[in-house]
Amino acid sequence: MEIRKIVLIHPGREGRIWGRAAGAPYTLMRLASLVPDDIPVEIWDENLGPLDGKLRQLGPHDLVGITSKTLAIESAERFARIAHEAGVRTVVVGGAHATLMPEDVARWADVVVTGEAYYTWPQIIQDFIDDNLKPHYHDSEWADLAGVAPITDRVIKMMDENRRYWTPMMEITRGCPRNCSFCTAIRVSGQRMRLRPVDEVVDEIQRRRIKRFFLTDDNFGLAFRTDPEYIEALFKALEPLPLNDWTCQAEMLVSTHPDLLALARRAHLDKLFIGFESVNPANRRELGGKSKGLTAQYKEAIKSIQAHGIGVVGLFVFGFDHDTPQTLVDTWDFVRESELDSVSMTILTPYPGTPFRAQLIAENRLMDKQWRYYDTAHVTYYPKRMTVEELEKTYDWFCRKAYSPWSIAQRGWRTLRRHPASRMPRKFFGSFSTDYGYRRTFAWRHVDGNRLLSAWGTTG
Ligand code: SF4
Repeated sequence: MEIRKIVLIHPGREGRIWGRAAGAPYTLMRLASLVPDDIPVEIWDENLGPLDGKLRQLGPHDLVGITSKTLAIESAERFARIAHEAGVRTVVVGGAHATLMPEDVARWADVVVTGEAYYTWPQIIQDFIDDNLKPHYHDSEWADLAGVAPITDRVIKMMDENRRYWTPMMEITRGCPRNCSFCTAIRVSGQRMRLRPVDEVVDEIQRRRIKRFFLTDDNFGLAFRTDPEYIEALFKALEPLPLNDWTCQAEMLVSTHPDLLALARRAHLDKLFIGFESVNPANRRELGGKSKGLTAQYKEAIKSIQAHGIGVVGLFVFGFDHDTPQTLVDTWDFVRESELDSVSMTILTPYPGTPFRAQLIAENRLMDKQWRYYDTAHVTYYPKRMTVEELEKTYDWFCRKAYSPWSIAQRGWRTLRRHPASRMPRKFFGSFSTDYGYRRTFAWRHVDGNRLLSAWGTTG
């Protein structure tokens, strides 16, 4: 079949904040780069504006691809329906939710892609042209990250990231050998940690002309232990680049590698998002061995990392089977004493494919909720040691304290003071924006249709 163009869609609900969307759809940028040069390709990001009108302009010679997390899968379904009504014959759906629950997506998608799609996506394009599409494609092996889907200059130009987005995304490692009971990472990205060649990372940063980025890596910090020589080479290669700063997810073992932390700071690493997850030691079995609920250890780790001039964002999850409302009271005490730069509190969410979800199903504790409530700000299961109302009330109580303007200002000011006066103007925005983003996530508990209200009663 003749192909007119390929449209890759990213459903989003956050929209723009002060004119820009948070981060560009990185996976789609990589997949768009695999499209042969002679086929027009476009990336449509719902966060930049509504897509319904554009979808109605499409027709049978257009190939539509949608990537979606669980949270956005109902939007993806709606986009597929509009595209079909417009005459599109092929809507391909991939991403985390399709990989974790292909049977759910197969109900309405023409083609379902499970896995990373780096091998199957070029095949799907060819099969569309040959009129030979199959209903299901599966990447049976984890791609070697060397040379896989480098972002092309065509895509860089098309995305215009530096003008339309606040924080470009970037990938350096993928996968996580841990197996936290609630996490989808090993099922979506694999249990072996894979590494991108350092020269490819540097080349991509230079060609995209990005000055800051957030790593999409599941657990970049674990490579401090598993691949220290790689990390050292990477940091040395990033040091001379004209970067303002970058941030990534890690676990607290990074604090036991002072040499690498010193190199990281010189390589412009600004903040580590550390998954402490819980201050309740009884939850340790759920945390895959990376943290044990011991707050004295957490405080030591935070201090050691901050001593290198690197900020720490504490990531916490509430609602494990050993949690009670007291767990959040203890967490709030810890947050106040710990000098964290920012704090993220989320409600445990039973994503498809996780051991936690399997346990809930076996115990008949899963609620029948739409996927749009899988946003870590809503309760989607029956907790063990508290009622749903108690969980919700305590979560609201914590978030109102943690994300009050006063708390955000206090933590932001503490972060700002760690920088020399000459860097303060440049660091001002970043010192407050992380907590502000989490305040917006909390605000999604209080929505009116598609309108975001803040938990404080004004638009967020
Ligand atoms: S350490 Fe992090 S990325 Fe790895 S399984 Fe646990 S939560 Fe997921």
